[in-house]
Amino acid sequence: MKNYSFVPDVMYDRAFDITPDDLISRGIRAVVLDIDNTLVTYGVAEPTEEVITWIETLRGAGLSVAIASNNHAPRVELFNQKIGAFATCESKKPFARSVKAACAHFGVKPDEVAVIGDQIFTDVWCARNAGSLAILVKPIPYPENLFFKCKRVLEKPFIRAYQKRN
Ligand SMILES: [Mg+2]
Repeated sequence: MKNYSFVPDVMYDRAFDITPDDLISRGIRAVVLDIDNTLVTYGVAEPTEEVITWIETLRGAGLSVAIASNNHAPRVELFNQKIGAFATCESKKPFARSVKAACAHFGVKPDEVAVIGDQIFTDVWCARNAGSLAILVKPIPYPENLFFKCKRVLEKPFIRAYQKRN
């Protein structure tokens, strides 16, 4: 039966927490990865060491890795230089085009693919349209959120003091 739900199948805090074993145990053979706020934030042009290592781990376990971004070609091509994944730019998620292209490229079925991204109405919906597994991760905090992080740190002693008193 086709799944129409916007509720993700699986949720993780970070993409890098997803293990090959978890994917393989769900019958997954290929992943289609979002870039922005899933692997790195908008402002980061190239993959971090953590991204590269994680993708190597997936590939090492026999999983195929594709990138599908709604962002433009220059961003996607530069990001993909060190990864060399099958990539679709301006992929128009939530449409399933990028997943279908990855299926054809890798010779896998849609239900053997996990779409991994940070947005329900882009990535999860795309997985639904393709008939793939929808894995939602928390968006990597934007740099401007650093301000709030600092604020939290400054708030902490007062919160602790309140907790001690009550
Ligand atoms: Mg995203």
